[in-house]
Amino acid sequence: MNCPTCGESSQVLKLEEFWRSLSQDAELKRDLAQPPSYAAQWLVPLGLIVLGFIVLTSGGVGAGLLLLLAGLGTGAWMWRASAAAEEARERWRRLLYCRRCPAQFEP
Ligand SMILES: [Zn+2]
Repeated sequence: MNCPTCGESSQVLKLEEFWRSLSQDAELKRDLAQPPSYAAQWLVPLGLIVLGFIVLTSGGVGAGLLLLLAGLGTGAWMWRASAAAEEARERWRRLLYCRRCPAQFEP
């Protein structure tokens, strides 16, 4: 695999392997690290939905529907954010790294 920036292949290796080979205090250890995973707080949308049902069944139709929508909205938003974070982590695992440039690129 040749580096698209410098055309060399001798210094190209998997980013993940290169990152693991770095010492803990190396500056690149932080810069090249895998993107963090998204810690979704699923209790928030779940709580809003449950609360929405409670309010809805006790007569507060408008407020209940509003809470349900808020719960579904935050749930969908969290799901998207967590999917995007997971995709970024997957991409990081595929990346190759050129030690000469240094460039990161997909194979
Ligand atoms: Zn290169």
